[in-house]
Amino acid sequence: MICLYCHSRIEEEADLITMFKRRKPLCTPCRERLSLWRSGERCSFCHRLMDSAEGECRDCRFLAENYRRPGKIMCMMDYTGEVKMLFHRYKFTKDAALREVISMFLKCRFWEYDMSIPIPVSPARMEERGYNQTSMVLEAAKVPYRDILATDKAGRQSELGKRARIGASNPFYFKDDQVAPMLAGKRVLVVDDIYTTGITVHQALEKIYTGKPAGVDVLTFSKA
Ligand SMILES: [Zn+2]
Ligand SMILES: [Zn+2]
Repeated sequence: MICLYCHSRIEEEADLITMFKRRKPLCTPCRERLSLWRSGERCSFCHRLMDSAEGECRDCRFLAENYRRPGKIMCMMDYTGEVKMLFHRYKFTKDAALREVISMFLKCRFWEYDMSIPIPVSPARMEERGYNQTSMVLEAAKVPYRDILATDKAGRQSELGKRARIGASNPFYFKDDQVAPMLAGKRVLVVDDIYTTGITVHQALEKIYTGKPAGVDVLTFSKA
């Protein structure tokens, strides 16, 4: 077998059980490098690595002052080292194998939700990249999703200050206004690729909460 990520040969007994477990093969060194988490104290809610004297996570406190929180935030990988490389390669090359690699780290009970909703990309980004990097990973994992959100967010929001982003109008909207009633009473999972300050996800949640879902959780592939 050949590792999907480093393309080296995997020297393992390819018996029936390993064949079955590893239909999408990743070698042990790659699996280990992609599973690394920086050590240190983390926020129990957003998984951010906190400063030693921080006590309460300042990102979460800031978000709570401005937005409604999700039920929980699940995070699969630490956005550092090899994971950073993986996402870079994935976003800027059209290497389909990389979405398979990311999908292998999705340990989430998708069946507990009525609907999974990926964070959309702007039309400009779609034009440039040709795909929504988050939906593609869900597809690779065979997780059904509803692409009901759209955004006119042109791009580098991170260059704006936090206050400016909060003051600006919400860049997310429903593709079709008929979908808001569809969310009523539903258990919703919002999926994103990289959670940085959390503002993007929380803006998307604001929109989703207008449909009065029973609950909303967040799944992010990685935490910066
Ligand atoms: Zn490998
Ligand atoms: Zn936090």
